[in-house]
Order: sequence, then C-alpha cells, then structure tokens
Amino acid sequence: MPSATGGLKELHDLHLRYADVEKQLETGPRQIRVREKVVEKKQAAIAAHKENLTALQKAADHKNLQFRTNEQHLAGLRAKLNQASSNKEFDIIKGQIEADTAANAVLEDEYLAALEKIDARRQEMAALESELKTAQSSVETARQDVAAEKPKLEAQLAELKAEIAAAEHCVPKEMREDYRRMVAAKGSECLAAVERYACTECYVEVSPQQKVELRSAKATKCRSCGRLLYMEIKE
Ligand SMILES: [Zn+2]
Repeated sequence: MPSATGGLKELHDLHLRYADVEKQLETGPRQIRVREKVVEKKQAAIAAHKENLTALQKAADHKNLQFRTNEQHLAGLRAKLNQASSNKEFDIIKGQIEADTAANAVLEDEYLAALEKIDARRQEMAALESELKTAQSSVETARQDVAAEKPKLEAQLAELKAEIAAAEHCVPKEMREDYRRMVAAKGSECLAAVERYACTECYVEVSPQQKVELRSAKATKCRSCGRLLYMEIKE
C-alpha cells in the first residue's frame, strides 16, 4: 500500500539497496587487486634478494679462489725455503712466507664472513618465499570468494531492478523525465527526504506551497537540487 510518502521513500530505499549491492560487486575485484599487488611486491623483493645473493656468492667464490691460489704459492715458498742456498735467501723467503700467511689469514676471515652473510641472506630468502606463498593463497581465496558471491549479487541486482521499475509508478507522469535525469546523474541519491522542511541533500528549505504538498504526500521537486522530495510522517 502506498505509504504517507506516496511510495517515494520505498523507491528511494530500493535505489539505496541497489547502490549498496553494486558497491559490493565492485569491492570484490578491488580486494583481489590489492592482494595481487602484495604478491607483486613480494616477487620483486625476492628477485632483488636473488640478485644480491648471486653477487655475494660470486664475491665469496672469488675470495676462496684467491685463498687457494695463495696457499699454493705458500707451499711453493716453503719448498724453496728448504732449498735456500744462503742465510740471506732463507731470511727473505721466510719473511715472505710470514707476510703471505698473515695476508691469507685475513682473506680466510673475509671468506668465512662472506659465507655467514650468504647464510643469513638464504634464511631471509626462505622467509620471503613463504610470505609469497601466503600472499598467493590469499589471492586465490579472494578470487574464489568473489566468484562465489558474484552470481548472488547479480541476481540481487536484477531483482532490485525489477522492484525499482515497479515502484517507479509512484512518480507522477509529469515528473518522470526529471526523475530519470536525476537517476542518471545521481544514482541512489536521485530522491531526498525532507527534514525540518529542508532537503536533506542540499539543505535548502521548501516553499510554503511545497510544505502543503509534502504533508499530503504529493510529489514535489527540490527547487535547488531538483531531487524528488518526500517527507516521512512520524506516527
Ligand atoms: Zn535539494
């Protein structure tokens, strides 16, 4: 039965519900996109980490090779030491062995430190990879949820559309064109309630003539924003 608002409030409510369902439909893909972005970020972090790890490994390999070459050189010097023909030569070779041994000890320390760093990076990498997996499964879950919700929401939209079409009969014929224009321009805000004799959308007061019309549930247009107005009469 038409209410005290001539059905306009009911029509407005249907428009608001329609907009709400539309919003829910848009929210799903947006939530997926947000989660996909997290995945992309993790993938980029992993790629950068991999690059860093490769560089560290290369530097460590280089140090290791240098260390081994130096060790071979030291073995050569030690052999030479045994064959030294003079005390002077012996002292020179001995001094060289001591210097090279000290240098190689530093190199060995550096190599071990590099290996430790690589180990730490590998652990970080494992953590990143596990975070990526979590992010990927979160995208998958969101996709499934959205896919499951979509047909339900679309059915609701179709239902509301039909209800709106039926409820639109309460809009007087001479106002239909204005109403359609407002629907196209403002969507769910095509109608406005009146409170304290002012439009609740633009706050412009209605005229004395409109007060009379509103009280008798006659459709009237806001003289400022053009929305169809209705007034809820509280019992
Ligand atoms: Zn208004």
